[in-house]
Amino acid sequence: MSALFQTYARAPMEFVRGEGVYLTTADGQKFLDFGAGIAVCSLGHAHPRLVKALGDQAETLWHVSNLYRIPGQERLGARLVDNSFADRVFFTNSGAEALECAIKTARKFHAQQGNPEKYRLITFDGAFHGRTLATISAGGQEKYLEGFGPAVQGFDQVPYGDIDAVEAAITDETAGILIEPIQGEGGIRTVPWSFFRQLRDLADRHSILLIFDEVQSGIGRTGKLFAYEWTGIEPDIMAIAKGIGSGFPLGACLATEAASEGMSAGTHGTTFGGNPLAMAVGNAVLDIVTEPGFLERVSELGLLLKQKLAQIVDDNPDVFELVRGEGLWLGLKCKVPNQDVVASLMDQKLLVVGAGENVIRIMPPLIVDQEQIDDACNRINNACKAYRERR
Ligand SMILES: *Cc1c(COP(=O)(O)O)cnc(C)c1O
Repeated sequence: MSALFQTYARAPMEFVRGEGVYLTTADGQKFLDFGAGIAVCSLGHAHPRLVKALGDQAETLWHVSNLYRIPGQERLGARLVDNSFADRVFFTNSGAEALECAIKTARKFHAQQGNPEKYRLITFDGAFHGRTLATISAGGQEKYLEGFGPAVQGFDQVPYGDIDAVEAAITDETAGILIEPIQGEGGIRTVPWSFFRQLRDLADRHSILLIFDEVQSGIGRTGKLFAYEWTGIEPDIMAIAKGIGSGFPLGACLATEAASEGMSAGTHGTTFGGNPLAMAVGNAVLDIVTEPGFLERVSELGLLLKQKLAQIVDDNPDVFELVRGEGLWLGLKCKVPNQDVVASLMDQKLLVVGAGENVIRIMPPLIVDQEQIDDACNRINNACKAYRERR
């Protein structure tokens, strides 16, 4: 019997080694990894520069408390600020913790302004914000809430992309609007970028905060450093995680000076967040992702992959319905159960990840090349053929 909580229905595979976009099992099978640990391994596996950054830091200093100054944290914070709308950063170990900080920051902002009754956030159907008690309540998905007692109060869910519903949901108790620029777990669900401009207008008109969950979309995944850059507007608060650590547990909550005003000394904290090891990796990731041409390359390869996937949809209309997404963050909506497609692709030694709305997510490490994209697309075509023959 396994000693582990049975919270995951795991595939019976054990990867023991990773290199670039490839993963190898204990018995020597090599897989092409287009899931990247659910959009985490932004620079692939065992990137030499990340290995060196982590190794050098490991030999120097692992951990000091946030009771002291941490130079790597100040440096990464300043660089995130230089490369975004934000003025302030709080480091965490995960996406959900970054969201917790974002939610607390929004509530505290209004409390600080003398309006503690403004604590509610408007959220969207299909959302995913993590698995803590507050973030399952924010996500509002019954399957994640069930059996865990009363939901955390203060989240009002409306349909994704419905501006009238957002406006109607704003009350004297509303603190802000929390949204993913593209829904990842929801199935690479998109709304027109113009929707975010409307949200910004509404937020400004009602003096409430706009919060972006970029835990999955951030750090180059869409071809911009942050997906909000596509929208033409800026949020007040943003949560990031996944790609910034490329596999090392690291998240952050970013905010403007004004929005972060309530988060004064003693109001929030973390033991591990922003620890020197994580900061060494985060700084090295940012070194690479902000190199000239890196994001342009993500956009170009993303476009190429999307075109190829569109062709695959055309060629396999019995399996796929459509392709959607931005950059190297693409979803194939399936006509057959998506988990069957994930399994068929596993037979072809291609890893992808399922999502809502019967979608499979194609999200290779951002360092993928054209040849590997061609290889993956061949494997998808082969999987369709094999799936068809089996039926
Ligand atoms: C993964 C994810 C989270 C949760 O991150 P964890 O590190 O698992 O806590 C939150 N929001 C979005 C959009 C995510 O994709």
